[in-house]
Amino acid sequence: MALKLFNTLSRSIQDFVPLDPAGKKVGMYCCGPTVYDFAHIGNWRTFVFGDLVRRTLEFKGYTVTHVMNITDVEDKIIKHVRETKTSLREFTGKYEAAFLEDLKTLNCLLPHHTPHATGHIADIISLIEKLVQRGIAYKAADGSVYFSIEKYRGCGCTYGQLLKLNFDEMKAGERVKSDEYAKESVADFALWKARVPEDGDVFWPSPWGEGRPGWHIECSAMSTKILGPSFDLHLGGEDLIFPHHEDEIAQSEGATGKPFVKYWLHGAFLLVEGKKMSKSLGNFFTLRDLLAKGFTGREIRYALLTAHYRETFNFTLEGLQGARASLARIDECVSKLREIEKAGNWTSAHPDAEILKKFATTLDDDLNVSAAWAVVFDWVREINRRIATNSLTAAEAATALATWANFDIVLGLELRHSDNLPEEILALGFARQEARKRKDFKRADAIRDELKAKGWVIEDTPKGPKLKKL
Ligand SMILES: [Zn+2]
Repeated sequence: MALKLFNTLSRSIQDFVPLDPAGKKVGMYCCGPTVYDFAHIGNWRTFVFGDLVRRTLEFKGYTVTHVMNITDVEDKIIKHVRETKTSLREFTGKYEAAFLEDLKTLNCLLPHHTPHATGHIADIISLIEKLVQRGIAYKAADGSVYFSIEKYRGCGCTYGQLLKLNFDEMKAGERVKSDEYAKESVADFALWKARVPEDGDVFWPSPWGEGRPGWHIECSAMSTKILGPSFDLHLGGEDLIFPHHEDEIAQSEGATGKPFVKYWLHGAFLLVEGKKMSKSLGNFFTLRDLLAKGFTGREIRYALLTAHYRETFNFTLEGLQGARASLARIDECVSKLREIEKAGNWTSAHPDAEILKKFATTLDDDLNVSAAWAVVFDWVREINRRIATNSLTAAEAATALATWANFDIVLGLELRHSDNLPEEILALGFARQEARKRKDFKRADAIRDELKAKGWVIEDTPKGPKLKKL
């Protein structure tokens, strides 16, 4: 069965067919953090969702190029830089480092590219120049450059592809300089913001004078620069649909004349203890707040992965306790399997194809994680039953461990265990075997290189591949 995903663009579930004619390579862009504070648990839900999409695609054998931008110049950042009297780099560097550390704590795979807005000012300017040349953008009396929605629509382009907008009822033709604005105003938005005294040292030269880019144009410039004018997947939280993603489409398609993104995926909001998260309600948690309460990144990751990405998820501390108990059940099962299998050689074992197929089928259904967990826990129950009746052989235990390692390519839970073969390395070993079975030797070699970079060497022996520490 093919992978099916809900595409916000068509408002329907569609078969996932990559743009690559060979059907192998996938370009995926996720809107990254604006680095002015620690990311909160709502943000993390979106990033863990992005990680699930990437891991599922890799599990299915696609070669993913994952791009996540770092927004390091934007309205809120400049305000904080002014208030804290620090330099832009010093201020954003601190939160960027924290973000990357948190990403690791939650065991999210690091994106292949993490471009910074401030590192792509020339690309941003050249994209705005294209829009000005095509008559879709204009310099206003305040020195800023705006995107004209009227001119864009006049070219036969659609503004409002992700969200149906009623232009008759809305006040069109207004101009907004702010990056975030209300749905009711279909306003011309700023691409380049002319320098004002409050910006301090944060400005760059441009053909329109000194200033800085708007937030929306940053994502268009960096995504198309790395992934090309058209790419497969664009992800973000549902709060970014309008105006941010709508504006990204307008800017990109306005400049290139080509369809920007094939599939738009949006993660739903998160409630904390049944309420919208807010500092005044005391239910506002950064990842670090939760770690300070004694929870682990793994428990938080598990909890975030229990709900379907398009459902509003109620995140609770009780739920985290539940996550701890569920993980303990898996850990206990796997550690028993390791004891039984001890004398064997995991690398010569093949995973249980039937169970894996069931697991894959649930993910194919628009990433139905609840059904995927049901497959995992039914499997745990059955293994435990076999262990309790002493009817599981060492070979069967090896098969079961191989099955778990395949689940974990998607789940990313990396079981702690006593022997010196980390789960991540084990999972990579299996991914390489799978690639070899598909005769995808390029992918297999890439995984071998990745293992090497992590300090492990894989040797193919008559009994199967063996992993050794370098
Ligand atoms: Zn973005």
